[in-house]
Amino acid sequence: MNAPHRLALDGAALAANWQALARLSGTAACGAAVKADGYGLGARAVVTRLLAAGCRDFFVSSWNEARALADLDFASAGATLSVLHGVRDEDMAAARELGARPVLNTPAQVQRWRAAGGWPCDVMVDTGMNRLGVSAADIAAGLLDGVVVDTLMSHLACADEASAMNERQRDRFAALAGRTRAKRMSLANSAGITLGREYHFDLTRPGLALYGGLPVVTLGDAIRPVVRIEAEVLQRRTVAVGESVGYNATWVARAETAVAIVNLGYADGYWRGFSDTGTAFAANVALPVIGRASMDLSDTGTAFAANVALPVIGRVSMDLVALDVSHADVAEGDWVAFDADLPRAAAASGMSQYELVTGLGQRFDRRWRD
Ligand SMILES: *Cc1c(COP(=O)(O)O)cnc(C)c1O
Repeated sequence: MNAPHRLALDGAALAANWQALARLSGTAACGAAVKADGYGLGARAVVTRLLAAGCRDFFVSSWNEARALADLDFASAGATLSVLHGVRDEDMAAARELGARPVLNTPAQVQRWRAAGGWPCDVMVDTGMNRLGVSAADIAAGLLDGVVVDTLMSHLACADEASAMNERQRDRFAALAGRTRAKRMSLANSAGITLGREYHFDLTRPGLALYGGLPVVTLGDAIRPVVRIEAEVLQRRTVAVGESVGYNATWVARAETAVAIVNLGYADGYWRGFSDTGTAFAANVALPVIGRASMDLSDTGTAFAANVALPVIGRVSMDLVALDVSHADVAEGDWVAFDADLPRAAAASGMSQYELVTGLGQRFDRRWRD
């Protein structure tokens, strides 16, 4: 039995996005962040396709995520998997068993790894984000002496902005070249790739852009959407003038309106921010908005039926959302497609593109084309 909603996933676009990011990375190798279950799309399906496309460096957050991918046999493809959060004591058994590399973040993690025998690892160094990583001073004091480091990495705090912080972090990172025995250095995420050659080092680590997100608009030429939500209409009804739709009656019909109630809601990651909140202010008095003033697709969530835009009306419920289908031939049992343009959906919902993709729920059927 099929679910009443699905994710239409475009494997060719995923591969093309990785290839585009690899080209933009110049002479650096291009890896892939596949943490959070491949940003919500399904890590196993993503890794399989990116291995076929030529990607050899993969990143997850935890050993649980690494274990879920263990049978994919990275080694025989000449690929490796790195675990960004390093190793706790309770991770050591998995680290021994799974053959993934920890990204060591703290002096305690380095000591733990060294004590366990010290086979190859990666190391995160903090260059100003103050999130994860050992310090340059720790390294200068000999923290990594004798440690077999594959990739020394750092992470940019502001890569999606024109910020002086980028250059500062880059300079601090570049100053570590030759100070460790690391075979490679890696700094850039998706947005960092667009900052230019001086940010690429030996390996880039895109995530969001692989999945169709645009952390910076300039990537729009290179990156295609990968994921589209499709959902089935559960009921079509006609709402008379003055009648309301949904919780708290935030939307009131200005004209007789054809409404489709669709199998999708915030429990699926179709957030309440996509609602037509229906409130305007006149002289500080909240007034319900009657109907919709404009068809600006970034006002609220939008679905499409044969290229006709179907705006969300009223509040998004847990498992349901209402669409205005007055201008479309949409009946019970039909499927509609939701807007796959992530920057626009982010503007409409007030969520980040990262939250939109990683929040895609577990109830969807995930259907890959290619
Ligand atoms: C998640 C992550 C990335 C990928 O970042 P995007 O902004 O999604 O491209 C790269 N490096 C590290 C350390 C990360 O945690």
